[in-house]
Amino acid sequence: MSNDTTTSGLAFDIQLSTRRRTPQEREAILENPGFGKVFTDHMVTIRYTAEKGWHDAKLEPYGPLSLDPATSVLHYAQEVFEGLKAYRHPDGTIACFRPEANAARFNRSAARMAMPELPEELFVGAIETLLAHDGDWVPSQADTSLYLRPFMISTDVGLGVNSPSSSYLFVLIASPSGAYFSGGVKPVTVWLCEDYTRAAPGGTGAAKFGGNYAASFLAQAQAVEQGCDQVVWLDAVEHRWVEEMGGMNLFFVFGSGPEARLLTPELTGTLLPGITRDSLLKLAPELGLPVEEGRISTDQWREAATSGELTEVFACGTAAVITPVSHVKSSKGEFQIADGKPGPVTLRLREELVGLQYGTRPDSHGWVRRFDR
Ligand SMILES: *Cc1c(COP(=O)(O)O)cnc(C)c1O
Repeated sequence: MSNDTTTSGLAFDIQLSTRRRTPQEREAILENPGFGKVFTDHMVTIRYTAEKGWHDAKLEPYGPLSLDPATSVLHYAQEVFEGLKAYRHPDGTIACFRPEANAARFNRSAARMAMPELPEELFVGAIETLLAHDGDWVPSQADTSLYLRPFMISTDVGLGVNSPSSSYLFVLIASPSGAYFSGGVKPVTVWLCEDYTRAAPGGTGAAKFGGNYAASFLAQAQAVEQGCDQVVWLDAVEHRWVEEMGGMNLFFVFGSGPEARLLTPELTGTLLPGITRDSLLKLAPELGLPVEEGRISTDQWREAATSGELTEVFACGTAAVITPVSHVKSSKGEFQIADGKPGPVTLRLREELVGLQYGTRPDSHGWVRRFDR
């Protein structure tokens, strides 16, 4: 079966799967989806060539991509991705949180990797098309969502490296997800990594680029060996300025009650500009919490935690929303943040953000984009 739906100029050819899971099979999967393990019935693909620009947009059955072994991405890792979620609102509709911001960041990542930009209407149109057919995969239990993973790979065939690829493939896949770190707001223990760096000035740290993750797995394994849940990245030059935690940005809370104020590492080009981070920079002051973008060193972190001036630390990102950090380990020893329990500022911000995403709080920022079916 094939018919067209048009989004902003480019028509999506619709090729429905003949092996769609039954409603019963889907419901059974949605009971306990885990994270990033199961995928919906369809995916969206759009091709790019230097001659034709973006073309051949389609919704097709979810399935393997067929690639020549000499395909550029397999050798030189020219790849960028995004991560966002579709949420089920109380009235049954589906919404995404700031998808335009993901589209814009996708293009900034692409530009860094010398890849073509994808017009925002196509990025959002791909989401709209997938949700129109796989919307039933957006779960409705608390803290669940449909995780959307748009990505782009270089597809020129050949091993030459003198120029970037001239052809690309954009793909959007979707995976129903439960809570990312099981247990919801369970605090994590972090490892301050001094042996490996994630990103250097002038490098690729601000791009959502698969290679940043490839380079991080060894440090993450070291963190786990040290009994920690996550790695904290320090700057590449002095190994003391805190940058981010795994795939999440960090916030530090100083003082408490009406005195509470927040600090998050400034965007220096070596950390990923999170959309959750950006949203909290706007939400916190509205809740009476002053917030500053600045620097914090590992020594300052330890001293402020020891003196009690530092009252809470949390990480934030789309996948795990807001996760408290309770313990910090490094080659110099170990310390705890306050009583090691999720703090009131962490929980208040989490409640506000989750309320906006799940449509239980009014959206005064125009951040919620509904995809009505
Ligand atoms: C995606 C990501 C984040 C968080 O970004 P959000 O837009 O908030 O999801 C933080 N750090 C890294 C390295 C990331 O890849």
